[in-house]
Amino acid sequence: MLSIQNLQAAYGKVEVLHGISLEVPKGKLVTLIGSNGAGKTTTMRAISGMIKPKGGTVTLHGVDVTGMDSHRIARAGLAHSPEGRRVFATMSVTDNLLLGAFPRLTRARPKGDVQCDLERAMDLFPRLKERRHQLAGTLSGGEQQMLAMARAIMLNPEVVLLDEPSMGLAPILVDEVFRIIARLKDEGVTMLLVEQFAAAALNVADYGYVLENGSISLHGPAASLKHDAKVVVAYLGGA
Ligand code: ATP
Repeated sequence: MLSIQNLQAAYGKVEVLHGISLEVPKGKLVTLIGSNGAGKTTTMRAISGMIKPKGGTVTLHGVDVTGMDSHRIARAGLAHSPEGRRVFATMSVTDNLLLGAFPRLTRARPKGDVQCDLERAMDLFPRLKERRHQLAGTLSGGEQQMLAMARAIMLNPEVVLLDEPSMGLAPILVDEVFRIIARLKDEGVTMLLVEQFAAAALNVADYGYVLENGSISLHGPAASLKHDAKVVVAYLGGA
């Protein structure tokens, strides 16, 4: 479904990704874990076209999308829920969600019914449903983060990139976000997840990759990575 081969990325002269390869098969949830500064967000940005890769390829269901503009990649069916709270503050929750569906309406073959997906998004995120008429800028930080995630889902994408959806959330909302991710997985949504909570990410994922200083150091089924001595010590807080 999503295939990354030898991806390289740099900011100016500083190379951050040194040629990473990973696969996200259809219907699977794959997680990318790594320490701060390892290059996880950069990987997501290079996949979705927010930055141009320096080398390598990004293939989305067989189509080479490497280096395309982000709106074309979105139209090809890839949704990116970026780190942080990127919502349109002066628009209502509902309008933010409807805007999420926009790129897909310009696809050659528009997929699904927007109204139906709006209801599904409200269903998945009951907090947003209660606040659907509220201006997005007046939501709490955690609610805005959920809105960013729900908006990505509104694209009805082939693949969703979720960058730290739990960042800065109170524990109760972190649990809610992971429940939502698990539900999306049950619905067969293909996802690549970057998470600071490595243990929770490995619990919900099918497969995991460990990113260290811009290179993949380890990968395997999530259930095995959870018990890998190096992963336990470095990322799961084990001794
Ligand atoms: P975190 O978990 O802290 O978010 P990360 O694994 O997502 O980290 P990145 O945000 O991808 O890491 O950053 C990788 C490296 O690239 C870091 O050394 C960072 O300082 C650098 N970097 C990130 N964005 C930029 C930028 N816009 N300009 C220059 N350097 C950058």
